[in-house]
Amino acid sequence: MKIVILSSGEYGSRIVNTIASKGFAQYIVGIYEFSDDLPEFLDDISTYIPENLPEADLLISVGLFGDINLVIPEIIYQTGIKSIIVPIHDPKQIPVGLQNEIESMVKNISSEVKIIFPKPFCSLIPNGDEFIDQFAEVFGKPKLEIDADNRINGINVIRGAPCGSTWYIAQKLMGLPIEEAEFESGNKFHNYPCLASMSTDPMVGDTIMHLAGYKTKEAVKRALGFTLKTAIVDSEVCLGGKDCDYLCRAACPNVKAGDETVFVDNDGKAGIDPASCGVCEICIKECPYGVIEIYEEKINIKPDSIK
Ligand code: SF4
Ligand code: SF4
Repeated sequence: MKIVILSSGEYGSRIVNTIASKGFAQYIVGIYEFSDDLPEFLDDISTYIPENLPEADLLISVGLFGDINLVIPEIIYQTGIKSIIVPIHDPKQIPVGLQNEIESMVKNISSEVKIIFPKPFCSLIPNGDEFIDQFAEVFGKPKLEIDADNRINGINVIRGAPCGSTWYIAQKLMGLPIEEAEFESGNKFHNYPCLASMSTDPMVGDTIMHLAGYKTKEAVKRALGFTLKTAIVDSEVCLGGKDCDYLCRAACPNVKAGDETVFVDNDGKAGIDPASCGVCEICIKECPYGVIEIYEEKINIKPDSIK
């Protein structure tokens, strides 16, 4: 696999460093840096197209804000790249209109091109595209194997956040009592720190940094097989969409970002997946009948089922 990376700013540099240091340096055939001081709107994009672009399979564009992202279709045209990942780490990075424009331009070049905009990068999972999947075997939504008795004896990072936070957190959790790992993974995540935006993303109703934190904790909870804190629905009194239209589900940031954290069970009642619930409490405020609460006892989680 041959990878071309477009990078801008501190966020871009960190992703490039992680990809290179975790075994993928051999696949990188081009890295192109763009100033993080470019205006949001650009009149003539042609002057920004890199020269002597190599042939490649996968384009990853990290940290570019606004119109400069319009270099992507031209690069696709010149290189024949068929797989593109454009992670979103800030609500202001690529407005939806621009995202749609880029998608339509690359599809006009070739209908075989696959372009995805994971929000955040650490939500990436395999999607059936050969090159994106090869990348997502190692980088994307965190996935761990934990060896533990009462304490954590070993952690294997099967897939890590492309910013490198998962490897850092895994190291810091070593030796801790298992009951502390879920909570401490959140602390260590903030110590790293994640460079995703702390501004609320209007599309999901939460910050992209929080979404990233939920993914990290989910990996720890799934690998341990339990959680000590989650939102739960009292299914005895849940109205199951009657008069409420599943407001809980509609408001959950993880659901808006594409997860199934709040689902509808076989009886039509709302249910919450304790592994992916980030305990943001938004659903609690949205449920008009007050049937969701925070539960702080141990709940077992089914063996890891994420892709
Ligand atoms: S607390 Fe509710 S809204 Fe927040 S992540 Fe959990 S299920 Fe979703
Ligand atoms: S939990 Fe509340 S908002 Fe969600 S389906 Fe039940 S009653 Fe409706």
